[in-house]
Amino acid sequence: MSRFFENLFEDYSDSKHADTELIDKDKVIQLVKNYVQTILVETKKNTYKLRDDLYVGDAGIAFMFWKLSQSSDLKDLFPCLEHASFFINRAKQIAHGKASDSRASIAFLCGNAGIAAVSAVISNELGKSEEVSRSVVDFQKGLKVCKSMSYDADEILVGRAGYLSGAYWLNQVLPTKPIHNELIKDVCSVLVARGREYSIKRKAPLPLMYEYHESDYLGAAHGLCSILHMLLESPWFIQSDGKFNNISKTKLGDIKKSVEYFADIQDADGNFPTRLFNSDKKLIHWCHGCSGAIYVLAKAFLILKDERYLKGCKKCADSIWRHGLLRKGPGICHGIAGSGYAFLLMYRLTGERKYLYRAAKFMEFLTSDTFLDGARTPDRPYSLYEGCAGTVCFLADLLNPQASYFPFMDVFSVKHNSE
Ligand SMILES: [Zn+2]
Repeated sequence: MSRFFENLFEDYSDSKHADTELIDKDKVIQLVKNYVQTILVETKKNTYKLRDDLYVGDAGIAFMFWKLSQSSDLKDLFPCLEHASFFINRAKQIAHGKASDSRASIAFLCGNAGIAAVSAVISNELGKSEEVSRSVVDFQKGLKVCKSMSYDADEILVGRAGYLSGAYWLNQVLPTKPIHNELIKDVCSVLVARGREYSIKRKAPLPLMYEYHESDYLGAAHGLCSILHMLLESPWFIQSDGKFNNISKTKLGDIKKSVEYFADIQDADGNFPTRLFNSDKKLIHWCHGCSGAIYVLAKAFLILKDERYLKGCKKCADSIWRHGLLRKGPGICHGIAGSGYAFLLMYRLTGERKYLYRAAKFMEFLTSDTFLDGARTPDRPYSLYEGCAGTVCFLADLLNPQASYFPFMDVFSVKHNSE
Protein backbone atom coordinates (compact mmCIF):
# COMPACT_ATOMS: atom_id res chain seq x y z
CA MET A 1 0.00 0.00 0.00
CA SER A 2 1.20 3.49 -0.78
CA ARG A 3 2.46 5.60 2.15
CA PHE A 4 0.19 8.44 1.14
CA PHE A 5 -3.36 9.06 -0.07
CA GLU A 6 -3.74 10.25 -3.63
CA ASN A 7 -4.15 14.03 -3.71
CA LEU A 8 -7.46 14.62 -5.53
CA PHE A 9 -7.65 18.34 -4.79
CA GLU A 10 -7.24 20.59 -7.78
CA ASP A 11 -4.21 22.85 -7.44
CA TYR A 12 -4.43 26.61 -7.03
CA SER A 13 -5.11 28.73 -10.07
CA ASP A 14 -5.29 32.50 -10.15
CA SER A 15 -8.32 32.46 -12.43
CA LYS A 16 -10.33 30.38 -9.95
CA HIS A 17 -8.99 31.28 -6.54
CA ALA A 18 -7.51 34.78 -6.72
CA ASP A 19 -10.51 36.45 -5.05
CA THR A 20 -11.66 33.69 -2.76
CA GLU A 21 -11.19 33.45 1.01
CA LEU A 22 -8.61 30.68 1.36
CA ILE A 23 -8.99 29.85 5.05
CA ASP A 24 -12.32 28.79 6.51
CA LYS A 25 -11.70 30.30 9.92
CA ASP A 26 -14.76 28.80 11.63
CA LYS A 27 -13.81 25.35 10.44
CA VAL A 28 -10.25 25.70 11.74
CA ILE A 29 -11.48 26.93 15.13
CA GLN A 30 -13.95 24.03 15.41
CA LEU A 31 -11.22 21.56 14.55
CA VAL A 32 -8.92 23.04 17.20
CA LYS A 33 -11.72 22.76 19.78
CA ASN A 34 -12.29 19.09 18.93
CA TYR A 35 -8.62 18.14 19.07
CA VAL A 36 -7.95 20.02 22.31
CA GLN A 37 -11.00 18.52 24.03
CA THR A 38 -9.82 15.05 23.05
CA ILE A 39 -6.30 15.78 24.34
CA LEU A 40 -7.67 17.06 27.67
CA VAL A 41 -9.87 14.01 28.19
CA GLU A 42 -7.45 11.33 27.00
CA THR A 43 -4.28 12.56 28.76
CA LYS A 44 -6.00 12.49 32.14
CA LYS A 45 -7.12 8.88 31.93
CA ASN A 46 -5.37 6.22 34.00
CA THR A 47 -4.59 4.32 30.82
CA TYR A 48 -2.61 7.26 29.34
CA LYS A 49 1.07 6.36 29.09
CA LEU A 50 2.89 9.23 30.85
CA ARG A 51 6.01 10.67 29.29
CA ASP A 52 7.78 13.93 29.98
CA ASP A 53 9.43 15.13 26.76
CA LEU A 54 8.55 17.55 23.97
CA TYR A 55 8.52 14.93 21.25
CA VAL A 56 5.73 12.69 22.55
CA GLY A 57 5.22 13.71 26.19
CA ASP A 58 3.62 16.31 28.44
CA ALA A 59 6.12 19.09 27.65
CA GLY A 60 4.93 18.96 24.03
CA ILE A 61 1.31 19.37 25.09
CA ALA A 62 2.37 22.27 27.35
CA PHE A 63 4.03 23.86 24.30
CA MET A 64 0.75 23.50 22.36
CA PHE A 65 -1.19 25.33 25.08
CA TRP A 66 1.44 28.09 25.13
CA LYS A 67 1.06 28.33 21.34
CA LEU A 68 -2.72 28.67 21.72
CA SER A 69 -2.20 31.41 24.32
CA GLN A 70 -0.38 33.41 21.61
CA SER A 71 -3.28 33.25 19.14
CA SER A 72 -5.80 36.10 19.21
CA ASP A 73 -8.44 33.79 17.67
CA LEU A 74 -7.88 30.85 20.02
CA LYS A 75 -6.54 32.06 23.36
CA ASP A 76 -9.96 32.52 24.96
CA LEU A 77 -11.32 29.11 23.99
CA PHE A 78 -9.55 27.47 26.95
CA PRO A 79 -7.66 28.60 30.06
CA CYS A 80 -4.53 27.99 27.97
CA LEU A 81 -1.85 29.02 30.44
CA GLU A 82 -3.49 27.07 33.26
CA HIS A 83 -3.36 23.94 31.11
CA ALA A 84 0.18 24.77 29.97
CA SER A 85 1.26 24.98 33.63
CA PHE A 86 -0.43 21.68 34.48
CA PHE A 87 1.30 19.79 31.66
CA ILE A 88 4.76 21.34 32.12
CA ASN A 89 4.63 20.69 35.86
CA ARG A 90 3.65 17.08 35.28
CA ALA A 91 6.53 16.78 32.77
CA LYS A 92 8.98 18.21 35.32
CA GLN A 93 7.75 15.81 38.00
CA ILE A 94 8.32 12.81 35.73
CA ALA A 95 11.77 14.13 34.76
CA HIS A 96 12.75 14.73 38.39
CA GLY A 97 11.76 11.18 39.23
CA LYS A 98 14.48 9.82 36.94
CA ALA A 99 18.16 9.45 37.82
CA SER A 100 20.10 12.54 36.73
CA ASP A 101 21.80 11.90 33.45
CA SER A 102 24.15 14.12 31.45
CA ARG A 103 22.66 12.85 28.16
CA ALA A 104 19.19 13.94 29.26
CA SER A 105 20.51 17.41 30.18
CA ILE A 106 21.44 18.23 26.56
CA ALA A 107 18.52 16.47 24.83
CA PHE A 108 16.01 19.01 23.54
CA LEU A 109 13.12 17.24 21.77
CA CYS A 110 13.54 14.04 23.80
CA GLY A 111 14.96 15.24 27.11
CA ASN A 112 15.36 17.77 29.90
CA ALA A 113 16.64 20.74 27.89
CA GLY A 114 13.33 20.88 26.02
CA ILE A 115 11.31 20.64 29.22
CA ALA A 116 13.37 23.46 30.78
CA ALA A 117 12.97 25.72 27.72
CA VAL A 118 9.19 25.35 27.56
CA SER A 119 9.00 25.83 31.32
CA ALA A 120 10.94 29.11 31.01
CA VAL A 121 8.65 30.41 28.28
CA ILE A 122 5.43 29.52 30.13
CA SER A 123 6.75 31.09 33.36
CA ASN A 124 7.62 34.21 31.40
CA GLU A 125 4.07 34.41 30.08
CA LEU A 126 2.80 34.12 33.66
CA GLY A 127 5.15 36.89 34.83
CA LYS A 128 7.08 34.56 37.17
CA SER A 129 10.58 35.91 36.63
CA GLU A 130 12.34 33.80 39.27
CA GLU A 131 10.99 30.63 37.72
CA VAL A 132 12.12 31.84 34.31
CA SER A 133 15.66 32.22 35.67
CA ARG A 134 15.58 28.80 37.33
CA SER A 135 14.42 27.14 34.12
CA VAL A 136 17.08 28.95 32.05
CA VAL A 137 19.70 27.65 34.51
CA ASP A 138 18.26 24.14 34.05
CA PHE A 139 18.49 24.57 30.27
CA GLN A 140 22.11 25.67 30.55
CA LYS A 141 23.01 22.44 32.35
CA GLY A 142 23.24 20.89 28.88
CA LEU A 143 25.99 23.26 27.72
CA LYS A 144 28.86 21.37 29.32
CA VAL A 145 27.97 18.16 27.48
CA CYS A 146 27.37 20.11 24.25
CA LYS A 147 30.86 21.58 24.36
CA SER A 148 32.56 18.25 24.91
CA MET A 149 33.79 16.61 21.69
CA SER A 150 33.16 13.17 23.16
CA TYR A 151 29.37 13.44 23.40
CA ASP A 152 28.24 11.43 20.42
CA ALA A 153 24.94 12.95 19.23
CA ASP A 154 24.70 15.98 16.95
CA GLU A 155 21.16 15.63 15.56
CA ILE A 156 17.98 17.39 16.62
CA LEU A 157 16.16 14.92 18.91
CA VAL A 158 18.89 14.41 21.52
CA GLY A 159 22.03 16.08 20.12
CA ARG A 160 23.72 19.45 19.71
CA ALA A 161 21.51 20.70 16.85
CA GLY A 162 18.44 20.20 19.03
CA TYR A 163 20.09 22.04 21.90
CA LEU A 164 20.89 24.92 19.55
CA SER A 165 17.30 25.02 18.26
CA GLY A 166 16.20 25.39 21.90
CA ALA A 167 18.76 28.14 22.55
CA TYR A 168 17.60 30.06 19.45
CA TRP A 169 13.95 29.63 20.42
CA LEU A 170 14.59 30.97 23.94
CA ASN A 171 16.34 34.01 22.45
CA GLN A 172 13.49 34.45 19.98
CA VAL A 173 10.70 34.28 22.56
CA LEU A 174 12.13 35.61 25.84
CA PRO A 175 12.70 39.38 25.91
CA THR A 176 15.97 38.91 27.85
CA LYS A 177 17.46 36.72 25.07
CA PRO A 178 19.18 34.67 27.80
CA ILE A 179 21.61 32.49 25.80
CA HIS A 180 24.69 34.50 24.89
CA ASN A 181 26.20 34.49 21.43
CA GLU A 182 29.58 33.30 22.69
CA LEU A 183 28.00 30.17 24.20
CA ILE A 184 26.16 29.46 20.97
CA LYS A 185 29.33 29.93 18.92
CA ASP A 186 31.19 27.52 21.23
CA VAL A 187 28.60 24.82 20.57
CA CYS A 188 28.67 25.54 16.82
CA SER A 189 32.48 25.24 16.81
CA VAL A 190 32.25 21.77 18.34
CA LEU A 191 29.57 20.87 15.81
CA VAL A 192 31.80 21.96 12.91
CA ALA A 193 34.82 20.13 14.36
CA ARG A 194 32.84 16.92 14.80
CA GLY A 195 31.43 17.18 11.27
CA ARG A 196 34.92 17.57 9.80
CA GLU A 197 36.26 14.67 11.84
CA TYR A 198 33.50 12.28 10.79
CA SER A 199 33.60 13.41 7.15
CA ILE A 200 37.32 12.59 6.94
CA LYS A 201 36.88 9.26 8.72
CA ARG A 202 34.03 8.26 6.42
CA LYS A 203 35.63 9.77 3.27
CA ALA A 204 32.37 11.65 2.73
CA PRO A 205 32.03 13.82 -0.40
CA LEU A 206 31.21 16.95 1.67
CA PRO A 207 33.26 18.74 4.35
CA LEU A 208 30.78 18.25 7.22
CA MET A 209 28.99 14.97 7.86
CA TYR A 210 27.49 13.33 10.92
CA GLU A 211 26.26 9.94 12.05
CA TYR A 212 23.58 8.83 14.44
CA HIS A 213 23.18 5.22 15.55
CA GLU A 214 25.80 4.29 12.94
CA SER A 215 23.78 5.74 10.05
CA ASP A 216 24.60 8.71 7.81
CA TYR A 217 21.13 10.21 8.09
CA LEU A 218 20.22 13.23 5.98
CA GLY A 219 16.71 14.04 7.28
CA ALA A 220 15.62 16.64 9.82
CA ALA A 221 15.05 14.33 12.79
CA HIS A 222 18.39 12.52 12.95
CA GLY A 223 20.45 13.90 10.16
CA LEU A 224 22.48 16.42 8.28
CA CYS A 225 19.86 18.90 7.08
CA SER A 226 18.74 20.24 10.44
CA ILE A 227 22.33 20.27 11.74
CA LEU A 228 23.32 22.51 8.81
CA HIS A 229 20.19 24.60 9.42
CA MET A 230 21.24 25.24 13.03
CA LEU A 231 24.75 26.21 11.89
CA LEU A 232 23.26 28.69 9.41
CA GLU A 233 21.23 30.18 12.31
CA SER A 234 24.41 30.87 14.28
CA PRO A 235 25.61 34.40 15.13
CA TRP A 236 28.45 33.77 12.63
CA PHE A 237 25.94 34.53 9.89
CA ILE A 238 24.73 37.87 11.14
CA GLN A 239 25.93 40.06 8.35
CA SER A 240 27.41 43.48 8.94
CA ASP A 241 28.41 45.70 6.00
CA GLY A 242 27.71 42.87 3.61
CA LYS A 243 30.29 40.64 5.31
CA PHE A 244 29.75 37.62 7.47
CA ASN A 245 30.44 38.21 11.09
CA ASN A 246 33.50 37.03 12.84
CA ILE A 247 33.98 33.69 11.12
CA SER A 248 37.01 32.15 9.53
CA LYS A 249 36.81 31.62 5.78
CA THR A 250 37.34 27.88 6.11
CA LYS A 251 34.57 27.47 8.66
CA LEU A 252 32.16 29.46 6.53
CA GLY A 253 33.38 27.61 3.45
CA ASP A 254 32.81 24.20 5.00
CA ILE A 255 29.25 25.06 6.02
CA LYS A 256 28.47 26.58 2.60
CA LYS A 257 29.99 23.70 0.66
CA SER A 258 28.06 21.18 2.75
CA VAL A 259 24.78 23.03 2.17
CA GLU A 260 25.56 23.18 -1.57
CA TYR A 261 26.29 19.47 -1.66
CA PHE A 262 23.08 18.71 0.19
CA ALA A 263 21.01 20.88 -2.17
CA ASP A 264 22.54 19.09 -5.16
CA ILE A 265 21.36 15.64 -4.13
CA GLN A 266 17.71 16.66 -4.42
CA ASP A 267 16.16 14.40 -7.07
CA ALA A 268 13.98 15.36 -10.04
CA ASP A 269 10.85 14.73 -7.96
CA GLY A 270 12.06 17.18 -5.31
CA ASN A 271 12.96 14.68 -2.61
CA PHE A 272 16.09 13.46 -0.81
CA PRO A 273 17.36 9.99 0.16
CA THR A 274 17.17 9.13 3.86
CA ARG A 275 20.92 8.36 4.07
CA LEU A 276 24.08 9.62 2.37
CA PHE A 277 25.43 6.18 1.46
CA ASN A 278 23.62 3.12 0.13
CA SER A 279 20.18 4.61 0.31
CA ASP A 280 17.45 4.58 -2.27
CA LYS A 281 14.72 4.78 0.34
CA LYS A 282 12.72 7.98 0.07
CA LEU A 283 10.13 9.32 2.48
CA ILE A 284 8.17 12.56 2.38
CA HIS A 285 8.18 13.29 6.10
CA TRP A 286 9.57 16.06 8.29
CA CYS A 287 11.79 13.44 9.96
CA HIS A 288 13.09 11.96 6.69
CA GLY A 289 12.75 13.69 3.34
CA CYS A 290 11.83 16.97 1.73
CA SER A 291 9.22 18.13 4.28
CA GLY A 292 12.11 18.55 6.74
CA ALA A 293 14.82 19.45 4.22
CA ILE A 294 12.86 22.49 3.04
CA TYR A 295 13.87 24.42 6.21
CA VAL A 296 17.62 24.34 5.60
CA LEU A 297 17.05 25.30 1.94
CA ALA A 298 14.86 28.24 3.00
CA LYS A 299 17.44 29.37 5.56
CA ALA A 300 20.23 29.04 2.97
CA PHE A 301 18.22 31.17 0.54
CA LEU A 302 17.70 33.88 3.18
CA ILE A 303 21.34 33.90 4.33
CA LEU A 304 23.29 33.15 1.16
CA LYS A 305 20.86 34.94 -1.20
CA ASP A 306 21.20 32.29 -3.89
CA GLU A 307 18.10 31.56 -6.00
CA ARG A 308 19.04 27.90 -6.40
CA TYR A 309 17.90 27.33 -2.82
CA LEU A 310 14.53 28.95 -3.46
CA LYS A 311 14.12 26.69 -6.49
CA GLY A 312 14.96 23.73 -4.25
CA CYS A 313 12.26 24.82 -1.78
CA LYS A 314 9.69 25.04 -4.58
CA LYS A 315 10.57 21.53 -5.75
CA CYS A 316 10.13 20.25 -2.17
CA ALA A 317 6.74 21.96 -1.90
CA ASP A 318 5.52 20.50 -5.21
CA SER A 319 6.60 17.03 -4.13
CA ILE A 320 4.80 17.44 -0.79
CA TRP A 321 1.66 18.58 -2.59
CA ARG A 322 1.72 15.38 -4.68
CA HIS A 323 2.78 12.88 -2.01
CA GLY A 324 2.27 14.55 1.37
CA LEU A 325 -1.23 13.38 2.36
CA LEU A 326 0.36 10.80 4.62
CA ARG A 327 -1.38 7.73 6.00
CA LYS A 328 0.60 7.86 9.24
CA GLY A 329 -1.76 10.33 10.89
CA PRO A 330 -2.31 14.05 11.52
CA GLY A 331 1.05 14.91 13.20
CA ILE A 332 3.98 17.12 12.33
CA CYS A 333 6.80 14.52 12.31
CA HIS A 334 5.39 12.14 9.70
CA GLY A 335 1.82 13.27 9.15
CA ILE A 336 -0.48 15.73 7.43
CA ALA A 337 0.39 18.76 9.59
CA GLY A 338 4.11 18.28 8.92
CA SER A 339 3.33 18.51 5.20
CA GLY A 340 1.04 21.49 5.76
CA TYR A 341 3.74 23.36 7.65
CA ALA A 342 6.00 23.28 4.58
CA PHE A 343 3.32 25.22 2.65
CA LEU A 344 3.07 27.81 5.42
CA LEU A 345 6.84 28.23 5.24
CA MET A 346 6.58 28.74 1.46
CA TYR A 347 3.77 31.27 1.92
CA ARG A 348 5.94 33.33 4.25
CA LEU A 349 8.96 32.95 1.97
CA THR A 350 7.27 33.89 -1.31
CA GLY A 351 3.95 35.56 -0.42
CA GLU A 352 2.30 33.38 -3.09
CA ARG A 353 -1.33 32.53 -2.34
CA LYS A 354 -0.84 29.12 -3.94
CA TYR A 355 0.96 27.91 -0.85
CA LEU A 356 -1.64 29.15 1.61
CA TYR A 357 -4.28 27.45 -0.55
CA ARG A 358 -2.35 24.18 -0.40
CA ALA A 359 -1.99 24.43 3.40
CA ALA A 360 -5.74 25.00 3.66
CA LYS A 361 -6.48 21.96 1.48
CA PHE A 362 -4.32 19.77 3.74
CA MET A 363 -6.30 21.11 6.72
CA GLU A 364 -9.52 20.22 4.89
CA PHE A 365 -8.26 16.68 4.30
CA LEU A 366 -8.05 16.08 8.07
CA THR A 367 -11.86 15.97 8.23
CA SER A 368 -12.38 13.90 5.07
CA ASP A 369 -13.81 10.36 5.27
CA THR A 370 -10.79 9.13 3.32
CA PHE A 371 -8.48 10.31 6.08
CA LEU A 372 -10.74 9.43 9.03
CA ASP A 373 -11.34 5.89 7.73
CA GLY A 374 -7.95 5.18 6.22
CA ALA A 375 -5.26 6.85 8.33
CA ARG A 376 -3.35 5.01 11.02
CA THR A 377 -3.47 6.04 14.67
CA PRO A 378 0.04 6.98 15.84
CA ASP A 379 1.56 5.32 18.94
CA ARG A 380 1.26 8.63 20.80
CA PRO A 381 -1.93 10.08 19.32
CA TYR A 382 -2.11 13.25 21.47
CA SER A 383 1.54 14.27 21.33
CA LEU A 384 3.30 17.24 19.75
CA TYR A 385 5.33 15.41 17.10
CA GLU A 386 3.32 12.25 16.37
CA GLY A 387 -0.16 13.27 17.36
CA CYS A 388 -2.79 15.97 17.30
CA ALA A 389 -1.05 18.47 19.64
CA GLY A 390 1.22 19.25 16.68
CA THR A 391 -1.80 19.42 14.39
CA VAL A 392 -3.32 22.05 16.71
CA CYS A 393 -0.13 24.15 16.37
CA PHE A 394 -0.41 23.90 12.57
CA LEU A 395 -4.06 24.98 12.73
CA ALA A 396 -3.23 27.91 15.02
CA ASP A 397 -0.57 28.98 12.52
CA LEU A 398 -2.99 28.62 9.62
CA LEU A 399 -5.07 31.40 11.25
CA ASN A 400 -2.03 33.70 11.36
CA PRO A 401 0.17 32.49 8.52
CA GLN A 402 2.44 35.55 8.42
CA ALA A 403 3.81 34.59 11.83
CA SER A 404 3.69 30.80 11.38
CA TYR A 405 6.62 28.51 12.04
CA PHE A 406 7.27 24.80 12.48
CA PRO A 407 8.01 24.35 16.22
CA PHE A 408 11.59 25.45 17.05
CA MET A 409 12.52 25.94 13.38
CA ASP A 410 11.58 29.52 12.53
CA VAL A 411 13.88 30.57 9.68
CA PHE A 412 12.70 34.19 9.70
CA SER A 413 13.21 35.48 13.23
CA VAL A 414 16.22 37.21 14.74
CA LYS A 415 17.31 35.23 17.73
CA HIS A 416 20.63 36.58 18.88
CA ASN A 417 21.82 38.22 21.98
CA SER A 418 23.43 41.53 21.03
CA GLU A 419 26.38 41.05 23.41
ZN1 LIG B 1 8.67 11.11 11.87
